[in-house]
Amino acid sequence: MRFQRLRLNGFKSFVDPTELVIGEGLTGVVGPNGCGKSNLLEALRWVMGENRPTAMRGEGMEDVIFAGTARRPARAYAEVALVIDNSERLAPAGFNDSDKLEVVRRITREAGSAFKINGRDVRARDVQMLFADASTGAHSPALVRQGQIAELINAKPKARRRILEEAAGISGLYQRRHEAELKLKATEANLERVDDVIEALT
Ligand code: ATP
Repeated sequence: MRFQRLRLNGFKSFVDPTELVIGEGLTGVVGPNGCGKSNLLEALRWVMGENRPTAMRGEGMEDVIFAGTARRPARAYAEVALVIDNSERLAPAGFNDSDKLEVVRRITREAGSAFKINGRDVRARDVQMLFADASTGAHSPALVRQGQIAELINAKPKARRRILEEAAGISGLYQRRHEAELKLKATEANLERVDDVIEALT
């Protein structure tokens, strides 16, 4: 699954619509301090379903919306779109009918986030699963933020194992297991309730 384009609109310092073409091979982003290099990486994490404002260096998720400057008013929404090459048809069932996938996330003040894949409304979970199954995503070890190398070196074995599992592409399975366990618990609780009702009736 290869990223081809990243489009930003109103995301952090990228107030005007900005499009980046991600070519094959290694991509470097260079620029002076404060020009928005980290914001780009955050946009990538965000469109893949990152839900922790702290991972976006903010207090609330709305902090990703352009906050305004002395010359320009704040924006009401932020949008990031990621275009992915799907010619190998690696996307999950239902999204596999075209060579390209466009994942869009938009956040509107006081209305929260909405996701789309190829124009269709989807849940955050669908987007997170799409990337988790492709061994990438908001928490992917392929995205290395500043200071993270030192953190990895100092990490405890359990944390390092999580990184290896993420790289091996099995973190999506953990998420599914967690959801299955929750369903199982809810079903057990329902069964107990049914038993109580039957007992009360007999
Ligand atoms: P460095 O090399 O110092 O790490 P950088 O190129 O990675 O810098 P970023 O940290 O990505 O730069 O960008 C910081 C800039 O983004 C700051 O000027 C900050 O004011 C601006 N910024 C962050 N959030 C917003 C926002 N919501 N609205 C407007 N500007 C923002």
